Amino acid sequence: MRNRLKRYFLSYLSFVIILVFSSLSLAGQAKNIILMIGDGMGPAHVNIAWLYATRELGISLVMAEVMNNGQTAYMINDTADSTVTESAAAAVQMATGVKVLAKSIGIGPDGKTLKTILEMAKEKGKATGLVTTSGITDATPAGFAAHVKRRSEEEKIAEQLIKSDVNILFGGRKAFFLPEAEKGRRKDGRNLLNEARQNGYVVVETAEEMGKAEGAKILGLFNQGNMLFELDRRGTTEPSLAEMTIKALNLLSKNENGFFLMVEAGRIDHAAHHHDIAAVISDLLAFDEAIKVAYDFQKGYPDSLLIITADHETGGLAVLPYAQTGEEYEGINLKAISQIKASHEKRNKEFGKDPSPEKIKEVIKTYYGVDLKDEEVKVIKEDALRKLDARHFHYEWDGSIGFVLRLYHRIGWATDSHSATPLFLWGIGPGSEKMKGWKHNTELFTIMKDAYGF
Ligand SMILES: [Zn+2]
Repeated sequence: MRNRLKRYFLSYLSFVIILVFSSLSLAGQAKNIILMIGDGMGPAHVNIAWLYATRELGISLVMAEVMNNGQTAYMINDTADSTVTESAAAAVQMATGVKVLAKSIGIGPDGKTLKTILEMAKEKGKATGLVTTSGITDATPAGFAAHVKRRSEEEKIAEQLIKSDVNILFGGRKAFFLPEAEKGRRKDGRNLLNEARQNGYVVVETAEEMGKAEGAKILGLFNQGNMLFELDRRGTTEPSLAEMTIKALNLLSKNENGFFLMVEAGRIDHAAHHHDIAAVISDLLAFDEAIKVAYDFQKGYPDSLLIITADHETGGLAVLPYAQTGEEYEGINLKAISQIKASHEKRNKEFGKDPSPEKIKEVIKTYYGVDLKDEEVKVIKEDALRKLDARHFHYEWDGSIGFVLRLYHRIGWATDSHSATPLFLWGIGPGSEKMKGWKHNTELFTIMKDAYGF
């Protein structure tokens, strides 16, 4: 009898243990969250980069691997005041779960300060980091750690960042940390690099300095403006997004309580604003390399939740069906796109102020390998698209050049701003099981909060 009781008790005990363990693994919590945002990265951007990688380079995308092994949802992103959003509201909605006004940073539509997931993680003793190829004062990183009425208040955002105690701050726009007398853009004469050092930050300005840097708080500012497009970066002192991600993970993972890290490929958006398909693809491939770093980390530390998504779509990008001649479907001309040698920034610098038709022809030939027809040169010279619709094609030349090149590259752009195209949301790790179906970007906050168990 006693033996039977003992056996009964033991089997009951093992049942309880199994129950406890299975419920633990079911509702497993995330010690770490890595949130990766492709700014402006709509489904067409992903598809074009995937086509380029698989057909032109013979490689696959790590983001596709994450998608295949993890969860996928579609995500919409309307704000409190618009169906088309921008990076500030999108970041804040992901970071706080509250629908806010477009262009606001960390402040609700009622004017109240919102607490972000990064700030919550910090309160719980986790390490935190923000990494971007855009400015560290730009809307996406700011949306996780700053609180201002308008995203354009970047001087104020810089002040808040150096007081934030966010452990890793990597990106561009050093100019907002320096006074005008020191080639900066600050009107108050303050040198925030010195103030950051006083607040305990190690300040680094090149890839080499970043690699060697040690310390609890590191501020890496690698360009006066945005960091360079990947297409123009080689041979410079700037780190790649993957290198910044490695450094951030190495330092943040030392914290025993875990961490929150946001990594943004900030310039996919800028490339798309300027209808620069080569820069879109190369920055997206650089993002994929950073995703590989994060995914490898997640595989090694499965109590980490890896999330990959975008804030909004930029450009209304589409793959077009037809070539200049022939009536059959052909789709994107990857060969022609592979011939592009520089970003629109370099190209437009080469144009100078008022380029002659000969200069336009020469620059397009040099950078795109395309022999423009006279009527095409005329469209660029007169900036015809900008004349017709300056609201959706307001950048000098870019819209007109993009339009002229559409028959060569077979891609089209609907606007030089953002669209409401739904976005991909991919996840792997504890909490990712909720990433399926049709989600609003405010729900991502709840998913992260629940994953942490806050
Ligand atoms: Zn944008």
